[in-house]
Amino acid sequence: MLTRLESDIQEILLSEEEIEAKVKELGERISEDYQDRELVIVGVLRGAFLFLSDLIRHIKVPISVDFVAISSYGGYTESSGVVKIVKDLDESIEGRHILIVEDIVDTGLTLDYLLRIIRARKPASVKVCALLDKPTRRQVEVDIHYKGFEIPDKFVVGYGLDFNQRYRNLPFVGVLKPDVYAGK
Ligand code: 5GP
Repeated sequence: MLTRLESDIQEILLSEEEIEAKVKELGERISEDYQDRELVIVGVLRGAFLFLSDLIRHIKVPISVDFVAISSYGGYTESSGVVKIVKDLDESIEGRHILIVEDIVDTGLTLDYLLRIIRARKPASVKVCALLDKPTRRQVEVDIHYKGFEIPDKFVVGYGLDFNQRYRNLPFVGVLKPDVYAGK
């Protein structure tokens, strides 16, 4: 039986099992690469919270976790490129190894902005881990060192990603039915 949320989904792009396997693989790669180091995991709220909590269970080196929240102006499904920090990091990151954890990189504008702010604080290193990548939409070049999946140019929800704050609790990544947008 479909739940009320599931019946709004047109197509499942990534199943729960596919995501689980990929998250494990990413965690293992990160553990391998940071064997002798300690990491500060920087989660980008709110979309990355679910990915982050699953990912860190597969990271086998010492970490601390901090969060930033970024707001971007513009239409809901279109980034305007004007972004600002609405919640800053709580810890100092100077001299530390940083791994930014993002849900999705679309135009790249949010990540580019965040990277500039983080680099200005003189960390020892900065890398990026993103679950989803929409490469066809890129406006600025950003390096994604640990990438989960490349997806087509479709607005997706689930596994932490929302539409009007809904659908974050779906365990898969899917595309909404057009009439859900039309109703908003
Ligand atoms: P960018 O600045 O790279 O264009 O956008 C990044 C942010 O836009 C993501 O962190 C996410 O919040 C939002 N975003 C981009 N594409 C999607 C999408 O397909 N679905 C959802 N729910 N959010 C998206």
